[in-house]
Amino acid sequence: MLKGIGVSPGVVWGKAAVVRGAAMEIPEYPIPPEQVEAEIARFHEAVDRSRSQLASISEHLGRNLGHQHTYILDTHILILDDPAFAKTATEDISQHQINAEWALRRALDQFIKVFDDVADEYIKERRRDVEQVGGRVLHNLLGQTPDTLAGFKEPVILVAHDLTPADTLQLTKGKVLGFTTDIGSATSHTAIIARALEIPAVVGLRNISERIETGDLILIDGDQGIVVLNPSQDVLGFYKAKQVRLRNRMEELEELRDLPSRTTDAKEIILSANIESAEEVETARTYGAQGVGLFRTEYLFINRRMLPSEEEQFQEYRQIAQRVHPHCAVIRTVDLGGDKFLSPLQLGGGLKSTLGLRAIRFSLKEIPLFKVQLRAILRASHYGKLKLMFPLISGVEELRRAREILAEAGEELHHSGFPFDPALKVGVMIETPSAVFIADLLAQEADFFSIGTNDLSQYCLAIDRVNEEVAYLYDPLHPSILRSIHSVVQAAHSRGLRVDLCGEMSGDPLNAIILLGLELDGLSMNPLFIPRMKQVIRALSFSEVRDIAAQALLLATGAEVRNYLKREADLRFGLQLH
Ligand code: PEP
Ligand code: MG
Repeated sequence: MLKGIGVSPGVVWGKAAVVRGAAMEIPEYPIPPEQVEAEIARFHEAVDRSRSQLASISEHLGRNLGHQHTYILDTHILILDDPAFAKTATEDISQHQINAEWALRRALDQFIKVFDDVADEYIKERRRDVEQVGGRVLHNLLGQTPDTLAGFKEPVILVAHDLTPADTLQLTKGKVLGFTTDIGSATSHTAIIARALEIPAVVGLRNISERIETGDLILIDGDQGIVVLNPSQDVLGFYKAKQVRLRNRMEELEELRDLPSRTTDAKEIILSANIESAEEVETARTYGAQGVGLFRTEYLFINRRMLPSEEEQFQEYRQIAQRVHPHCAVIRTVDLGGDKFLSPLQLGGGLKSTLGLRAIRFSLKEIPLFKVQLRAILRASHYGKLKLMFPLISGVEELRRAREILAEAGEELHHSGFPFDPALKVGVMIETPSAVFIADLLAQEADFFSIGTNDLSQYCLAIDRVNEEVAYLYDPLHPSILRSIHSVVQAAHSRGLRVDLCGEMSGDPLNAIILLGLELDGLSMNPLFIPRMKQVIRALSFSEVRDIAAQALLLATGAEVRNYLKREADLRFGLQLH
């Protein structure tokens, strides 16, 4: 039994198909000066061939799987197109008169070294992208076919040292039951695609591709990150039962989909979805979301070199408006910056500081960029029910300024004859302690609130999220966070405003008790959590959770709150929550 990183859930077993991309021998030889030009041409040909291979895979998959994942291949094409990539290699060919493969390998080593010095995991992972693109060009230089995953006769579990996103995108569900690799991490593109394809996967097993032969029986548990080589009948029996349990559970949860999220005493709380692309509206619907409570627009901006145009953004927001019907979607203006969304876009300085230029501060500094987004959202508002929300507001002046720019965008559209919803509701994310304290003032000028406890916890508890030494302090059940939520709800309700909560804590069933008790109007979460949350809410009584919340507000520590909630969940509602 081996332990790796489970990156795509599910339990499967079957015969292994080991793909050992033959370790590439890189030929190294000098070339005579008169051949330099021809060698450079050979290099460019290999790059061109790589580009058209990637473009055709991307197009094929866009047609079959939807375009939301082809951006990964497009990123690879961008790397190929980067002038520095070709320049370093071709200069090496002409200056040192060496063959193209050798020059390319040296250029790749140079680029890759840069990534090794970066602490950030996401950026580090991009090193793989560069290696994979380089590997493809090398294959093409050597006249080998880089795509080795063509058709398996029977369903298999793929075992490889690594899979490129292009490889992963070629896996067919049904033919490939699951896969496992020596290297990789949860944030690798390969992992993202595995989840999109719903193929169970475990990565980071170090040397699994050497420990197993094609035809061996192998089992992978993508939830636990476990791989079992040649499992015994007992082990298989255990996992068969687990598979059945998982299926039954999904079916049970599916039955909940169309039931209201209502307590036993008929108090309703809206459960909506946090999403990052228009395609996810379908997933949200499958899990019974009543609309989209948070569309994080940052993903339109990352992994690319050019800013998304008004038209491109408009198409995305319009799709959301149309797909979410008859419900509503809340579009949040871009929250670039901080520790989260590192982008190759070279915009402003100091974007990395969580206390620096990020979110609404960034938008108010880059007004033309902000206005493009506002125009796109306004235009899309004509096609369904949309709301607009600003992130990280810390003062009323920010809200006023943002609204002014919104009004200007509206006027411009009006003059150009674009239809839009003139009554588009404008909300404020409450995610700074400042916004909590002035919630009553913000409530006078906003149409709704959404509490972002991910950021609120970090700012309220003064935790630098990238500092592991203080990570233990992070606790959304900390009395200061609960009191913040309580006072924001009161400020909002006293002005008749609706208030939702869209931080990660909203997807945890134990928190359902306190969040419902604090009288939030809605919770927005990863759609996968909605069925379980609904199941718990349907077992609760509003009048009782209100009492529980009132008691919890008097407790001294997060741990006391947690224990209290667990005890009450069990005693009053027969729920064993962790
Ligand atoms: C939050 O801060 O709680 C939130 C929902 O926003 P994000 O996670 O995108 O910062
Ligand atoms: Mg936030």
